[in-house]
Parts: sequence; C-alpha cells; structure tokens
Amino acid sequence: MSETRRVAIITGAARGIGAATAQRLAQDGHPVAVLDVDEAAVNATAEAVIAQGGQALAVTADVSDAAAVEAAVERVVDKLGAPSILVNNAGITRDNLLFKMSEDDWDAVLTVHLRGSFLMTRAAQRHMVDAGWGRIVNLSSTSALGNRGQANYSAAKAGMQGFTKSLALELGRFGITANCIAPGFISSEMTKATAKRLGVPWEKYEQDRVSAIPVLRAGQTEDIAHAVSFFVDERSGFISGQVLYVAGGPRG
Ligand code: NAD
Repeated sequence: MSETRRVAIITGAARGIGAATAQRLAQDGHPVAVLDVDEAAVNATAEAVIAQGGQALAVTADVSDAAAVEAAVERVVDKLGAPSILVNNAGITRDNLLFKMSEDDWDAVLTVHLRGSFLMTRAAQRHMVDAGWGRIVNLSSTSALGNRGQANYSAAKAGMQGFTKSLALELGRFGITANCIAPGFISSEMTKATAKRLGVPWEKYEQDRVSAIPVLRAGQTEDIAHAVSFFVDERSGFISGQVLYVAGGPRG
C-alpha cells in the first residue's frame, strides 16, 4: 500500500494490460481513472476495482481526439483530483505485410499510439508540473525492434520510446519521471486476435510463442502491471527515460 495518494489515469483500461494495471495501482492505494473508448467494458473495469476495495472512475474517451482528451482529464480532476500518474496504454493493431498495408492501417495505428499518448500527456502533465511530482509510463513493445507484418505497429512502438526519452528530458526538472515498458508476448485479447487473424488455434499459437521465450511461459497482464507499479512508486524518482523489456528474456 502506497503512503501517498496519487491519482492515476490508465488509458485502454477496459481490458487486458490496462485493466490489470488499474487493479494493481488501486491495490497500491491510488485512486484510478480508467479510460477507454469501450464504455460498457471500462465501466466493468471500474466496478471490478471498486469491488476489490479500490477507488475508481470510468471515463469514456478516444485518446486520439484532442477535445475528448481535454474533457476527460478535466473530469478526472473534478471527480478524483489532479492526476499525477499517467499510463499511456491504449493501443490497436492493424497487422499486414507492407505491400498489403493500407494508408488507413498505417494512420490508425500511428494515431492511437503516438497522437493518443501525446494528447493525453500534454493534458495531464500540467497537473503534474503544478504538483511538482509526476509519473508517466508509456507502453512500447518488443515489436519496436522490428516484427514481420507490423511495420505500422513497430514504428509506433519505437516512437513511444523516443517520445518517452524526450518527456524525461523536458519534465525531469518538475519532479516528473517518464519511462517505457516494452512487453513481449502477453496473453490478452490483442494476442488472441492476432492468432485468429493468422488462422492458428490460440493454444497452438500460444505454445509456439512460449517455446521461444527463455522463461518458458507466456506473459500475463499482471506481469506488466507489476512493472508499472515499480515505475510509479514514490521511491523510483531517480529512474527516468528508461525502456524496460518485460518479455521473459532479453526480448520477446
Ligand atoms: P487490448 O486490445 O486487450 O486492450 C487495448 C485497449 O485499448 C482496449 O480496451 C481498447 O478499447 C483500447 N483502445 C483502443 N483504441 C483506443 C482509443 N483510441 N482510445 C481509448 N482506448 C482505446 O490490448 P493489450 O494486450 O492489453 O495491450 C495494451 C498495450 O500494451 C497496448 O499499447 C499494446 O500495444 C501493448 N502491448 C501488448 C502486448 C501483448 O502481447 N498483448 C505486447 C506488447 C505491447
């Protein structure tokens, strides 16, 4: 349990890594604003956090819509208090080999990950600057190192790393750290959708992926939530601009 109450915003928190991170930060003692485009599912995340004894607010917004982002952050300030933790986790995939990749596939992925994280961070950081304390955690991926069929996603996830390092340089003087987590293979709806798209049964897809992971298991959403909890801890204030691969080995 954290000694200090820090309001956290977690984007893409309707399911998967975002939902697990919301549960974990709530367990750590932080009120959590769970934000997602999926209203019904993000409401369910908030209810689940509250059922576990945490404090949660569900916010429906598209992270790539500047006006919606501004309104969402103001709603958090109003209902929970000024945010001092931001987890940029919302994401999508539109996988395809480059020669088949449409402009829409490219734009959609770059827009949600990069523009979304930029807009959310710009809106949230002013509250962190005012407080002289903040923690920003951005979700990258081992795909940042290159992945067949994911030119758009790889570019976005490598972009998240550069974005994070610039935030660390600009915001450090205000007591704000920015770090990046690059998950490897995590069992979630996102990876289940990939298996489906490839026409491979989930169990086989998971087994094949696990056989290439040094610790010989799939990552769980809680593994990523644990890394987020570490970065946002009061005692992690000297750790900034870093990329932590959470992949059961040096990379996924
Ligand atoms: P997921 O698909 O289970 O959940 C992503 C959530 O983001 C969904 O609830 C979705 O509604 C939300 N979202 C999408 N677009 C949005 C938008 N414009 N505005 C607000 N919310 C939006 O995915 P996940 O597996 O939990 O992944 C979470 C993050 O971790 C993503 O950034 C993903 O790229 C990254 N990641 C996942 C894996 C993995 O193996 N699952 C590996 C590396 C990185």
